[in-house]
Amino acid sequence: MSTFTVTDDAAGTNAAEAKAGSGAYPDADYAHQYDDDFVSRWDELIDWQKRSEGEGTFFIDLLRKAGAFKVLDVSTGSGFHAVQLRKAGFHVVACDGSPTMVKRAEVNFRRHGLSIPIRQSDWLELDSQALGKFDAVVCLGSSLCHVFDEKARHQVLQRFRSLLNPGGLLIIDQRNFQAIRAGKFKASGRYYYCGKTAHVSIGEVSDHVCEFVYTFSDSATFRLRVYPILPQQLSDEIEQATFSRPRSYGDFKPIYDAMNSDFIVHTAIAL
Ligand code: SAH
Repeated sequence: MSTFTVTDDAAGTNAAEAKAGSGAYPDADYAHQYDDDFVSRWDELIDWQKRSEGEGTFFIDLLRKAGAFKVLDVSTGSGFHAVQLRKAGFHVVACDGSPTMVKRAEVNFRRHGLSIPIRQSDWLELDSQALGKFDAVVCLGSSLCHVFDEKARHQVLQRFRSLLNPGGLLIIDQRNFQAIRAGKFKASGRYYYCGKTAHVSIGEVSDHVCEFVYTFSDSATFRLRVYPILPQQLSDEIEQATFSRPRSYGDFKPIYDAMNSDFIVHTAIAL
């Protein structure tokens, strides 16, 4: 397994200044929120077996249909999708800005006997000169909402665009913040976070912030504060970063009830 370390600054951005994230919400800095204790429980939260049953071959089918081979998983977390996609035969490079998540993913790659290159990098530091270009970029597990500021999200989406070959595929999913902001949070436990011993609920929610509260079997509690981006807004922002108008799926279905889906997946082609 190869681990890249970010030592270069090839994109000309100062890493500390450029870090995409919480802006006016320093308490919501993603790297701090994913601390050792929380990350050590991430796989209990997910339940890899149930999660893979819940999503089936949805992402694999999308990628195959797009003719993708080289896939960049920009928010690999503990490595769930990197492993699924590598096992399905894709060439996968994994990235994440959280050092604790990267360590966890490395353990999981070893556990699965897979050699998947992984890099610790904030999205704004991802650099096509160092990484090469990809047929697809996947940003899964409701990750982009860690970026609160619209301008920063635009830069991140442009960065994802710069890592794609022409015609490459972008896949981004989000919790269904339209339903959540309307007071209809639903965690069916069938998708993404399937662990039976962990419970997800909503703390503070407004147009500006959404707080998820994760409670584990030993009553340990962790909070994630994110920007509750609406599906329509995310579609617009993806398009503005030189992508085709995104297609969307609710809980992996092309026709769905917008108020009754846990997650919305957006797919778009790099123009
Ligand atoms: N995809 C994984 C993890 C989702 S959690 C899963 O589905 O299980 C969100 C992940 O996004 C975290 O691992 C976090 O470190 C990463 N992340 C959030 N903001 C980031 C940024 N600006 N740069 C790089 N990674 C980021």
